[in-house]
Amino acid sequence: MTNKIRGKVPSLISGTNGTPIFDVCGRKSHCCRCKDDIVQNSNIVKIPTKESGFTNKKSYCLKCFTAILEQTKHELEIIEKNFNDLTV
Ligand SMILES: [Zn+2]
Repeated sequence: MTNKIRGKVPSLISGTNGTPIFDVCGRKSHCCRCKDDIVQNSNIVKIPTKESGFTNKKSYCLKCFTAILEQTKHELEIIEKNFNDLTV
């Protein structure tokens, strides 16, 4: 019945918060996690989050995004492990 499935495959990342957007900071901003200043024209990562119905984009410095990426991998490993336990 695979022909009944339409559209792209949902993912745990794009299906919930949305995929990160790699951007260049247009004006001086600050990281919403460590509160460090992000200077103009430096690289930032924006992560869309859904808050009370509308989408908000949060800006993170690259250092914080590295931590977010590591945490995502870690959580994905746990999900995979639990799923594998289920299907063995
Ligand atoms: Zn930061």
